[in-house]
Amino acid sequence: MTTSSPASTETQGQIQPRTYLNFIGGEWRPSVSGVTFDDTNPAHRHEIVARFQKSTVADLDAAIRAAEAAAPAWRALPAPQRGAIILRAALLLEARQQELARDMTREMGKPVRETMGDLQTAIDFGKFVAGEGSRAEGETVPSAIPDKMCITIRQPLGVIGIITPWNFPMAIPAWKTFPALLAGNTVVLKPASDTPLSSAHLVEILDEAGLPKGVLNFVTGPGSVLGDALVTDPRIAMISLTGSTEVGRRVAELCGRDLRRVSLELGGKNAVIVMDDANLDEAVKAVAWAGFGTTGQRCTATSRVIVHEKVADAFTAKLAAAAEHLHIGDGLLNETDMGPLVNQGRVGAVHEYAEIGQAEGARLVTGGHPLSEGALSEGAYYAPTIFTDVTATMRIAQEEVFGPFISVIPVASYEEAIEVANSTIYGLSCAIFTESARTVFRAMRDINAGLIYINAGTTGAEPHLPFGGTKQSGNGHRELGRKAVEEFSETKTVFVTYPQV
Ligand code: NAD
Repeated sequence: MTTSSPASTETQGQIQPRTYLNFIGGEWRPSVSGVTFDDTNPAHRHEIVARFQKSTVADLDAAIRAAEAAAPAWRALPAPQRGAIILRAALLLEARQQELARDMTREMGKPVRETMGDLQTAIDFGKFVAGEGSRAEGETVPSAIPDKMCITIRQPLGVIGIITPWNFPMAIPAWKTFPALLAGNTVVLKPASDTPLSSAHLVEILDEAGLPKGVLNFVTGPGSVLGDALVTDPRIAMISLTGSTEVGRRVAELCGRDLRRVSLELGGKNAVIVMDDANLDEAVKAVAWAGFGTTGQRCTATSRVIVHEKVADAFTAKLAAAAEHLHIGDGLLNETDMGPLVNQGRVGAVHEYAEIGQAEGARLVTGGHPLSEGALSEGAYYAPTIFTDVTATMRIAQEEVFGPFISVIPVASYEEAIEVANSTIYGLSCAIFTESARTVFRAMRDINAGLIYINAGTTGAEPHLPFGGTKQSGNGHRELGRKAVEEFSETKTVFVTYPQV
């Protein structure tokens, strides 16, 4: 057992990647397995960014025990004091934003401009939610019965299991962990194995900000092993998971057996509708960013463009030109517009969809192949890909590809556009480009999605506004915004009787 995570070591002149430990009960500890796994750079597949513990269920058990032991003192600490620790963490993140953004680019691939944005979301939300510690309001209402009054108070839930994906390696762990802690819960955090470094940084920073021992515990390792154990542990009061719909469905089933509270933020098949009165240049710029930014690996990425047939050819030609002008490469380089996919396995998965699209009869406009020229041969690169003449029921119009892959679906009317937009199992994000106020208001009413953008792409969150999807993009919970703290607490109703005089 060690009390601090060891720094990088130098052997025979070569910098060895740092080995990170689990963080349990306020101490950095190796896994009982004695095995580590590599966190590699998707732009240079041979570069190991750091090593992490391949943990077992025994490590998880120790983390849950530590979280349980820390719970009574943490929930007793006044909420404004809990908020002060979160504010300090947000300020530390801000002070180290550049350095942490570069580390995130190295483990995940997206350009530094984007990893700075990922961190900015964590910082802004930390500052926002810290203040909620002084605003943990309940209700005070009259009773219908004489000599009584009623109040509601918010209570923490207990130990929260937080499971995060790799595509927003700091923002998502922060936007779950901060409100869970603020509400007075203790936490076991299991990050995705492609990007545990950013979560480790978050844990180090919260520790430095003064979080008491055991309040936040960090265990790395495979979701297939640790996931079931965390999700089914009777000591866990709530699971908060962001990930694929497939994993979400399994987690929901397991939680359902024990009636465990579960918050799920899952996949998307997000559409931009381009009407015939749209400003096409604005629409193309927004779709190129929303579809190819983060290499298409955002839950809110634009993966379908439902375009009025009158402007479909013009729009598609302009979008293809924009895609072909993107500078693709290592996200650490200033000129890079689009980095690699998160790992080599994803290259094969995206390419399979290019083959499916062709077999289904859609027309490939650009891309449709991995990139391996020159320096790109070292990384997991895939060309920005556009298919047109896609129909609503094709697999490339229905399934989440999670790569730089856009399906253009021509339609004849607004009504058809809405029908197509709503025709998938997902309901995360949707956008419409039109100059008509009437069409804007109809779309706000008709689109079935948790997030709707007018004359903008399908991506972007603001920390003070709720974020989440409908249908199988989640289970109805929302993250961010003022309600974020409520998600991690429960209401207790108190009936007070005045003393008889
Ligand atoms: P994933 O579902 O493969 O993994 C997510 C997390 O779940 C990881 O930490 C993983 O280790 C863990 N996990 C895997 N199997 C598990 C199991 N059986 N039980 C419990 N946990 C398990 O997703 P990913 O590939 O990391 O992320 C991409 C997915 O996340 C996409 O579908 C994307 O749309 C979605 N996503 C959604 C949002 C949102 O807010 N709606 C945001 C980001 C990403």
